[in-house]
Amino acid sequence: MSVLDLEDVTKTYRRGASALTVLHGVDLAVETGDYLAVVGPSGSGKSTLLHVMGALDRPTSGRVRLVGDDVTALSDAALSRVRAVRLGFVFQQFFLLDGRSALENVADGLLYQGVRRPERLRRARAALERVGLADRVRHTPTELSGGECQRVAVARALVHEPQILLADEPTGNLDQASGSAVLELFDSLHADGATIVVVTHDERIAGRLPRVVSMRDGRVEHDTCPGVRA
Ligand code: ADP
Ligand code: MG
Repeated sequence: MSVLDLEDVTKTYRRGASALTVLHGVDLAVETGDYLAVVGPSGSGKSTLLHVMGALDRPTSGRVRLVGDDVTALSDAALSRVRAVRLGFVFQQFFLLDGRSALENVADGLLYQGVRRPERLRRARAALERVGLADRVRHTPTELSGGECQRVAVARALVHEPQILLADEPTGNLDQASGSAVLELFDSLHADGATIVVVTHDERIAGRLPRVVSMRDGRVEHDTCPGVRA
């Protein structure tokens, strides 16, 4: 069974009388252990696709299944729970809370689960070790470099052990060296079995991943390893 399965997904944005269709019947299956790039020029619908994959937004039509469960029909509250418990997100902006330590930012990733504070902190520390920041747990975002902030964000995305990690332009705000470090971190997470989707406009980043899905004008133009739907 696929981790994530999109079937004939469309997305149309309406503004007044006008409508803009941004996704045109996308089929995409992500398998356990996949490490794939969604690549395409700006405006091709990559972020919209990631939002639909991550239950941050609903498709206009079509179906999205997460490990077999149809998430298209869920209530807003149920979708929030799916996102918090089963998915991990990394964005170009790090979305860390200033004034709170790296440890607290990561521990917050477990609030939804009802995990008690000592356990949250223990797991947050382990996640920060996982991303190579064991010596930065007490630092606040303003005391960290951009690359370190993004690694804190990755730790927060991982701390609840999501079924899939979704990243939208995760190196977009980073210099070359910090961006490479984040991608190397993804490589090692993938080697440990994580399922990861990286959205990027950067062909060089896409080219180093084992599977590349190319988007153009809201359609999948090419997929180097298309899944087969049972
Ligand atoms: P990409 O991430 O590939 O740059 P996006 O998915 O962000 O592309 O955007 C695809 C198209 O959808 C763009 O033309 C964009 O302007 C439009 N779009 C994205 N979000 C919205 C929205 N909330 N309302 C209206 N149009 C949108
Ligand atoms: Mg985008």
